[in-house]
Amino acid sequence: MNHKTTSWDDLRAADRATLWHPYASATRAADVYPVVGARGVRLQLADGRELIDGMASWWCAIHGYNHPVMNRALNEQLEQMSHVMFGGLTHPPAVKLAGILLDHTPDSLTRVFFSDSGSVAVEVALKMAIQYWYSVGRPEKQKLVALRNGYHGDTFGAMAVCDPVTGMHHLFGDVLPQHFFAPAPDCPVDGPCSDSDIKAMADLLAAHHREIAAVIVEPVVQGAGGMRFYSPDYLVKLRALCDAFDVLLIFDEIATGFGRTGKLFALEHTGIDPDILCLGKALTGGYMTLAATLCNQRIAEGISEGEAGAFMHGPTFMGNPLACSAAIASTELLLSQPWQRSVQRINAALERGLAPARELAGVADVRTLGAIGVIEMKQPVDMQVVQPMFVERGVWVRPFGKLVYVMPPFVMSDEDLATLTAAMVEVVTQL
Ligand SMILES: *Cc1c(COP(=O)(O)O)cnc(C)c1O
Repeated sequence: MNHKTTSWDDLRAADRATLWHPYASATRAADVYPVVGARGVRLQLADGRELIDGMASWWCAIHGYNHPVMNRALNEQLEQMSHVMFGGLTHPPAVKLAGILLDHTPDSLTRVFFSDSGSVAVEVALKMAIQYWYSVGRPEKQKLVALRNGYHGDTFGAMAVCDPVTGMHHLFGDVLPQHFFAPAPDCPVDGPCSDSDIKAMADLLAAHHREIAAVIVEPVVQGAGGMRFYSPDYLVKLRALCDAFDVLLIFDEIATGFGRTGKLFALEHTGIDPDILCLGKALTGGYMTLAATLCNQRIAEGISEGEAGAFMHGPTFMGNPLACSAAIASTELLLSQPWQRSVQRINAALERGLAPARELAGVADVRTLGAIGVIEMKQPVDMQVVQPMFVERGVWVRPFGKLVYVMPPFVMSDEDLATLTAAMVEVVTQL
């Protein structure tokens, strides 16, 4: 087949005939928009239109697109080496990045394991927890506890700790390992959390801790499973429970990491340390796919001094130098500027811009935290109807279920934020 296309319609047709898009039907696929470039906060469509990107390509593009500092870093690394295996070899980008990540996360975290994507970082975290208990002579501790409304990725291990309803557990039936689920925390993000708010989790741990390896949660913000914000106090109490019942605590900060919630990492809202931390998404500023799983010395030693003598995981593209260089450049770029002020400014603009939606009959809730803005509708929105409405208004917003939400690049101007939020309010008004 000749893949050279003569027009954008041909490209669309070829896409339709050959490709599969995320969470999409192959045979009844919705239209996709050909994009030919991206600069700053704008996506350039093939037909010449420009869209203000409210999604930051799913939390990733915190500096916007085509950033000169990022481009330079990638080009320089490309001239050195784009990839080399990580078994038996090491290189400056991996070592430097590990140092940066350990410098900016709690001191108790001492080791970094690189992988290719968020889902794999979660697989690695779950395997670390289970292999740790095996190594220290507690092989019966193999179960996990997760929260309802949680999202941790699409691979089997990760899927097994996603919300069992929205995560489509029934489709995969017995193939998925069975874990425990506690209710999603209900204590508001700016308030305390009472013992009764965490009672279901406490009861679960009390009853089953002998077989539980770890609890995995997205701290403070549950992302793709419902865009819910909850009290850091819940996590303080959860840490105490995990300590009392000898259960490890895993924080999945793949969405919340790198400033999104107003802190560099959401764990800073809590003052407590997880045993294992997953990072991804904005790690490379959206340039390359890369993820990291960090753990403390107890886990690193437990696994390394156990029967296997090694941690049993090793992706082909582990520590990819180009991706590590992108992550170094992105993190240094973020830390070199007053990013907290940018996130606060975005939060104020989202609050201001989305406030009118609070009055609308179809709207259940409007909430913001850091550079995240959410309009929760009472009914699910029809993507086929809504997507063109946003594009007509010159913005890129991709709702799911009842949620019309944005997490813009940190470099978005107040003017573009006003356009973005006005479009959101207009569209939900018309639903
Ligand atoms: C996106 C996401 C993942 C999965 O990351 P991928 O790179 O898509 O595999 C895992 N956990 C959380 C919290 C996420 O937001």
